[in-house]
Amino acid sequence: MRYSAFRILKEGLTGNRGWTPVWREPEPKPAYDIVIVGGGGHGLSTAYYLAKEFGVTNVAVLEKGWLGSGNIGRNTTIIRSNYMLPGNEPFYEFSMKLWEGLEQDFNYNAMVSQRGILNLAHSDPQRDGYARRGNAMRMAGADAVLLDADGVRKLCPFLDFDNARFPIRAGLWQPRGGTVRHDAVAWGYARGADSRGIDIIQNCEVTGFQIKDGVCSGVETSRGTIAAKKVAVCVAGSSSHVMAKAGMRLPIESHVLQAFVSEGLKPVIPGVVTFGAGHFYVSQSDKGGLVFGGDIDGYNTYAQRGNLPVVEDVCEGGMALMPMIGRARLLRMWGGIMDMSMDGSPFIDKTHIDGLYFNGGWCYGGFKATPASGFCYAHLLARDEPHPTATEMRLDRFSRGRPIDEKGMGAQPNLH
Ligand SMILES: Cc1cc2nc3c(=O)[nH]c(=O)nc-3n(C[C@H](O)[C@H](O)[C@H](O)COP(=O)(O)OP(=O)(O)OC[C@H]3O[C@@H](n4cnc5c(N)ncnc54)[C@H](O)[C@@H]3O)c2cc1C
Repeated sequence: MRYSAFRILKEGLTGNRGWTPVWREPEPKPAYDIVIVGGGGHGLSTAYYLAKEFGVTNVAVLEKGWLGSGNIGRNTTIIRSNYMLPGNEPFYEFSMKLWEGLEQDFNYNAMVSQRGILNLAHSDPQRDGYARRGNAMRMAGADAVLLDADGVRKLCPFLDFDNARFPIRAGLWQPRGGTVRHDAVAWGYARGADSRGIDIIQNCEVTGFQIKDGVCSGVETSRGTIAAKKVAVCVAGSSSHVMAKAGMRLPIESHVLQAFVSEGLKPVIPGVVTFGAGHFYVSQSDKGGLVFGGDIDGYNTYAQRGNLPVVEDVCEGGMALMPMIGRARLLRMWGGIMDMSMDGSPFIDKTHIDGLYFNGGWCYGGFKATPASGFCYAHLLARDEPHPTATEMRLDRFSRGRPIDEKGMGAQPNLH
């Protein structure tokens, strides 16, 4: 079924009896060409692009819970391509371009809203750093505008410009950044993959891999054994846990990241605003709630709930930036498990086991990468060679001395 204004009109006039389920609930088959482990944003987009771009449809996506139960339904919905390093920027700009045509492409309303993202600078050296980043972005074909304090004031007059500790001196503005409704992304990709014949199987946990003589030929699941010519893992926060079942130790740690939503307010925040002197970012949802977050909790965990010290830290960042936020009441908060890599950048690569592929290490930033990650992973799976924008995202980059350390923090996952 195609969605359109005409369809809404027709269904409205005929009692809404013609709508069909957005995807099927098939039983797992004994064998597939490709089994994708993890039905989050990346698993579903990989399935979608495998079918649409590479004509591979004998594929199953195995999800241990329900679609949207992981980070795809827990993130703060921000998309941007304001990266600096050559290993990252072309990839994230590719993702941005895919976002721009996504809703027409998969015929689903994902509420892609390019209202812009503003990174604030609180000192002259920080402004210089943003000038460098903005130039790198523009050289890679992205958009970036360096604003002085007056330029920032025009966009966001409510900010605390003369804060004694963190005065606002400048900002890096990416007009094409913004937000996308996260769970609609999962549903849209699921619908697009399902309609092309891919089996999306919920409540099916992968509990092990069938590996013999260095070759992976399938998976053990809570619903039986499934054979596959290729197994593609993309389980985000569960990466280390799942790949350990294949005997692999990854350069990834799992940490919890929290998100917060306030009560609904009248429109106040034009796009996304990030604090440059701590970790705080905020946007406003279509329902009016301020959606905000900050740092990870800072200890290794697989729990999807965080602790109060980080709540205090995030709220302090908000108060330093826009003191009026102190009047807003917090409506809800939650946590998600982040797959933090050692250099803050992801992996889309084959493993040393034939037929076993890995996608993970997305840290805080995997939502914006969802379209490109799926496209590039599908490219790797279908052609056995990396997509040109993802050639650096390899598992062996540390041993080759080629980390992609966007923040220059070194091997400190909790600081990326
Ligand atoms: C609070 C928070 C805020 C964030 N904000 C942003 C943001 O604003 N912008 C941004 O770009 N990124 C953001 N992120 C990061 C982003 O959400 C993630 O990097 C991205 O969603 C990870 O990819 P995914 O969607 O495939 O993960 P997930 O949705 O977590 O998918 C992985 C799936 O694998 C499944 N799984 C795990 N183990 C197994 C198994 N053994 N068998 C079968 N299935 C299994 C899980 O159930 C899960 O559904 C945020 C994350 C959090 C938690």
